[in-house]
Formats: sequence, structure tokens, C-alpha cells
Amino acid sequence: MDVPVSEDDSFGIEVILTEGETKAPSCPHGPTLLFEKLSKGEERGRRFYACSACRDRKDCNFFQWQDEKVSEARLLARQAENQARRPAFTHQQYCSRFKKFVSLLEDDKKFCQDCQMLFLPGELNAHASHKSRAISVAQLRKPSVLLCPLENKKSNAQYLFTDRSAHFLLNTLAGNGYSKVLCVGTPRLQELIKMRNLDGKHETMKSLLLDIDFRYAQFYGQDEFCHYNMFNHHFFEGEASSAVLQAFLSESDGKKVVMVADPPFGGLVKPLASSFSLISVAVKSMDMPMIWIFPYYFESRILECLPSLIMLDYQVDYDNHPLYKHGKTGRKQSPVRLFTNIPPGEVILPEEEGYRFCSICRRYVWSLNKHCAECNICPSKDGREWKHCSVCEKCVKPSWKHCQSCGRCALPNHPCGQGQGMEGCLNCGSVKHKYKACPLKDGRNPSHHPFLNPRAKRKSGAARKAKKTAAVST
Ligand code: SAH
Ligand code: ZN
Ligand code: ZN
Ligand code: ZN
Ligand code: ZN
Repeated sequence: MDVPVSEDDSFGIEVILTEGETKAPSCPHGPTLLFEKLSKGEERGRRFYACSACRDRKDCNFFQWQDEKVSEARLLARQAENQARRPAFTHQQYCSRFKKFVSLLEDDKKFCQDCQMLFLPGELNAHASHKSRAISVAQLRKPSVLLCPLENKKSNAQYLFTDRSAHFLLNTLAGNGYSKVLCVGTPRLQELIKMRNLDGKHETMKSLLLDIDFRYAQFYGQDEFCHYNMFNHHFFEGEASSAVLQAFLSESDGKKVVMVADPPFGGLVKPLASSFSLISVAVKSMDMPMIWIFPYYFESRILECLPSLIMLDYQVDYDNHPLYKHGKTGRKQSPVRLFTNIPPGEVILPEEEGYRFCSICRRYVWSLNKHCAECNICPSKDGREWKHCSVCEKCVKPSWKHCQSCGRCALPNHPCGQGQGMEGCLNCGSVKHKYKACPLKDGRNPSHHPFLNPRAKRKSGAARKAKKTAAVST
């Protein structure tokens, strides 16, 4: 049967993960990824290399067709550009600066807000016209508070855990006997672990932060931080740096290790899963326990790549996210969840925050996630109470109605069409498009790569209107 497809449908761009056949060219963010642009009716699209980390051309405009011949001059220019975009200091240099810094008198410990760096008395002139402030020892221990979050909407947005979520994670890990935590893109968790060690009441936990934000190199030693890109498993400081990870994961110290990753949500699932798999093979005796923090609507994509993970109901919230922080009228529910291979019964979700234990599913669920006798699961994904549709023989979102012509449940105002059996849009239920292209969707857009979504700018008036009303209609 011919499935009707609207013009900006899921025919988009795929990441092609090849295993070292040909070497990908590098941008300032390490080896680029190979993408394939599929067009309607074509079996094989044209392939090109683009930045693994940046969803926005403004941040990294690397582009090269796979079959393109690149001139010597362009290669040299590229090399120069990659060199120019390296951090001002090596991590080792940052460490010796830090040593000097902590030995300074209280009044001489200064942080430049414009340059986002700790500077030494001899450098005062260079920052004379900048905004700078004195730094206490306590502040040095909380770099995630000191540094202003990178706000680049698309690729590098930094959403910091609320105290509540950070403590929940830490207590869960400690409670399950993990004493080594690999923090991938979770600077605030690393910070909390180090603070906890200071109080002397607990057994010390080790942590290692892997992050692309090299501002953290100013605060952490070489065994505590690696400048790392999680979309291509690239260590910016080369082998010495990846050896730090190897040593951390080695089991010779008998400590139980766990990984906690909170990637940017615009990120591509496949390359992330590939990097996490590469990390986990270093732990030889078992499946490395991990927690991957990501929005619930990526569940099927994540499980496709890493089938041993299970999505938990816990809602992660963030201090500085415009949509998912606590409001005056109680918190707006966050769509961000934990995906983990830790047995779900071992992750105790706090009752006082509205979670309960389902003894049939043997896991903790959100209070509104009622067990369905027919499906024999607690079906809700989004925090609302779902209802069972006897025609579809499954539970669906409360706002969905069974649609005769689609032969399935969907939002009442979904774009109606035929296409039984096809997996529809996760947001409105329509089979005409996938989640990515849903005109009724609000909130965070999961994928906005300039090359992935060439038509994103050309939204029709109707689609824009529909999007506006979506906030009330979903
Ligand atoms: N909730 C976390 C922060 C998550 S924000 C906390 O409170 O600790 C995403 C984090 O991933 C940021 O620290 C950001 O610098 C990092 N990041 C973004 N892109 C990355 C990449 N390509 N590789 C590694 N880290 C990345
Ligand atoms: Zn790049
Ligand atoms: Zn400055
Ligand atoms: Zn059901
Ligand atoms: Zn139905």
C-alpha cells in the first residue's frame, strides 16, 4: 500500500556509523559524522560529513560531501581553523595555574566573568576592563554555579540539575553500592560527589567528568576531568586522556562503577549509544551499569540501540530550564527520564514526591501511572493517567480518541489519513508524519540539525497556528 507522506516527513537524514572503513575528516570537535540525506523514492541518498557535536551552522559549519575532492589549500585552512579553536591552555597548564591560584591570598583570587576563567595576579591587566569578581574557596568547589551555563539553544544548552534531582541520583547510586561514578555531561553530579566526600561521614566516592565544556579543566585535575565529545567518543587531549578513562574503569580496585550521562537533548541517539557502548566494553566483567538521562519520547530510539535499558518514571528537573523548572503553581512535569540497566526495583523513587511501588511490575512508578489489568503494565510515559482503548487493545494518552478512519487512537485534531499498521507520530498519533515533523508539538524539539531539517524554516501558516494551540490541546 502507498502510504501518504507529507512533504517534510521522516525522510530526513540518517547517521551512518561505519567501522573505520575510511577516516572521517575532522572539525574542531574531532572526527565528523557521516550522514545520508534521503529523498523520496530514492534508495540511497547522498552522503556527507558534518560536525558530530553542533546542531547549528553558526557553531561549526563543517560540511563535505563524501565523494568530494578537497584541495590542499582547503585542508590547510581547515587544519589552521581546528588549531585556532583549541583551548588557550592544555589541561596540564590549567592544573598548574590552579595550584598557583589556590595558594593566593583571598583578595587575589579572581574570576573573570567575561572570559569565564580564573586568572592570576600577573594577568590583571588583560582583564582590567572586564567584569571580574573575587572567589572564595567554597565557590571554587562549585564550578557549575560559578560558570554561566552555555545557552546555545541547539547543541550546547546546559541544563543543570535541581538540588533535588542531583541528590536523588547521588543517593540512588550510593544506596546501590556504587563508589565510582563516570559523569558524562553531568558536572553538577560530579560536584555533589566531591562535596559529599568532604563531609567525612561517608565512604569516599570517586568520580570522573567527561565533558566538551573545557572551562571545567580549570577546576579539576587530570584524573577528574577529560575534555571529551560524546557524539564521536573523541578525547581532545588524545591518548593520555583516554588512558585516564581506561584506568578509571579498570576493576583492579574492586570498586563498583556506574556511568551517568545527560546529553544535550538535540543529540542524535545512534552516535550517543555507540559511544556509551565503547565506554562500557572497558568494563569487562559485566554489562556496565548506566543511567542515560533523556526525554521519554526518545524511548523507542534508545531501546533500539541499547535494548538492555529500561525507562523509569522518575522525572528529572532542572534549575535553569524555561519549561521544566518548578513554577509557582507546582511544577510543570518534566519529560526527562532515566534509562537504565540497573534493575528497576533497585531504583527507589521517593514516595513524598508522588511515586509508588507497583508490586506487579516490580518497579516504582508515578502515582498517576495506574496499572492496567488488560495490558498488565503501568503504561503511562508522560506522567498523565492513560486509558485503555479496547479497539487498539492498548493504553493511550488521555487526550487521544479512537479514530475510525485511521483505525487507531490519535489527538482529535490530528491530520487524518489512512495508513494502518504504520507506527504513527508519538505526539498526536497521526500516521502522516513522525514526531520530528509534528505540527501539534510544543516544547523541546528533539532534532534541529541545519542539514537534518532543511525545510524547518518554511512552516506553513496553518502549521504555525496549530503549534500555538498545541499547548492547550495535547
Ligand atoms: N544536568 C547536568 C548537565 C546536563 S547539560 C548537570 O546538572 O550536571 C549537558 C552537558 O553535556 C553539559 O555539561 C555540556 O557541556 C555537555 N555536553 C554538551 N555537548 C557535549 C558533547 N558533544 N560531548 C560531551 N559533553 C557535551
Ligand atoms: Zn564541529
Ligand atoms: Zn577577562
Ligand atoms: Zn491497557
Ligand atoms: Zn484506539
